[in-house]
Amino acid sequence: MTEPQPKKTETTCGCKLGRVAAKYDLADLDETLVGDWTGDGDERRSTRELATYVNQQILKIALTNADIPPKEGEIENMYRLLTSDDVTSGTRIEIRNELERDGVPIEAVESDFVSHQTVYNHLTKCLEASIETPNDEERLERSEEKLGALKNRTAAVTTDTVEQLDRKGILEIGKFNVNVSVTVTCEDCFREYTVRDLLDQRACNCQEPGSAEI
Ligand SMILES: [Zn+2]
Ligand SMILES: [Zn+2]
Repeated sequence: MTEPQPKKTETTCGCKLGRVAAKYDLADLDETLVGDWTGDGDERRSTRELATYVNQQILKIALTNADIPPKEGEIENMYRLLTSDDVTSGTRIEIRNELERDGVPIEAVESDFVSHQTVYNHLTKCLEASIETPNDEERLERSEEKLGALKNRTAAVTTDTVEQLDRKGILEIGKFNVNVSVTVTCEDCFREYTVRDLLDQRACNCQEPGSAEI
């Protein structure tokens, strides 16, 4: 807020999203964000979906600027490889190296990626947009996030504890990995779900006649 920003046209605010929008020349972004966030029913997109949208635009422009305009569908896949929890670090390193080789400043691009919190702040503070109540999707996302943070914290504390005991010679272990998994069991049918699956599926199989797929 105190450091002077090089003024480009159409900067609506000084927040990260405003700066990134100006830097990548994302025209009409604010309109899209407000429209999609406050839109009706199915049209409505959550701040997380909007952050993904913004970041994919950033990636697309970065590739275009490096003279490798992406093909249809390529951006979604590339973005997933760069950000998803389900992608191994090896794959991620590979794709980052590839982009780097092709002249995409991937580190700078990634640091321009915005979080859903940034999108939320930009919408509510800079643009003063509001929606009355969070939709189901947003409630689920917030819950998922809360539980994810708790899981990460459990894993971090466990790692620390084992490392400490190992250092003191109280226990012995080689290189190790901590994996936290939380499951929820439906007492009506005794099916067990990971929290993530349950949040994705949103109902136990026994509660929803007709939907058999997991
Ligand atoms: Zn802003
Ligand atoms: Zn059940």
